[in-house]
Amino acid sequence: MPDRRWENDLTVLLTADQIRARVTEMAREIAGLYGPEEDLHLVAILKGAFLFLGDLVRAMDRHVTLDFMAVSSYGKGTRSSGEVRMVKDLDAGLEGRNVIIVEDIVDTGLTLSYLQEILRARSPKSLRTACLLSKPSRRQVDVKVEHIGFTIEDRFVVGYGLDYGERYRNLPYIAVITD
Ligand code: 5GP
Repeated sequence: MPDRRWENDLTVLLTADQIRARVTEMAREIAGLYGPEEDLHLVAILKGAFLFLGDLVRAMDRHVTLDFMAVSSYGKGTRSSGEVRMVKDLDAGLEGRNVIIVEDIVDTGLTLSYLQEILRARSPKSLRTACLLSKPSRRQVDVKVEHIGFTIEDRFVVGYGLDYGERYRNLPYIAVITD
């Protein structure tokens, strides 16, 4: 039997099957907005969006291009301070491109509104946002997210890219830590 003790304190919120089904739907919804010859450029926000991006693009039956950006919100633990800092910028420009921001979760909305502002300033042809999870009860700024996977309550979640102290990102499901 494999040793699964590291999962003992977790309660599953969204199973791997639920996530797979919803991400496939989102991929079709997004890809369906653009003609087959139009470019589609996905900008994933590291590190939390890495699995979401991987599953999303594998469910898109068309050409896509990818780039990555990393931001960090000051403060560790389960609450962000609201200040956002860019840690890694994109490799390529966005001018004239159809850009989708791929993000793990929108909580207060501060990170996404910062990202949308700096990416919009780079003159993309269009800019949309896909977020796997949303916690609307925590919103501090009114940020537009066109594609939301699941709406959840105000619980700190881990797994499927999301961490607690850099751990749990590799769980195939989303869970809450029960203590
Ligand atoms: P916001 O700026 O919207 O408050 O927060 C966005 C960032 O906070 C997310 O990209 C994510 O890194 C982190 N975050 C917010 N809620 C959660 C959560 O429930 N679990 C984890 N692991 N990170 C979260």
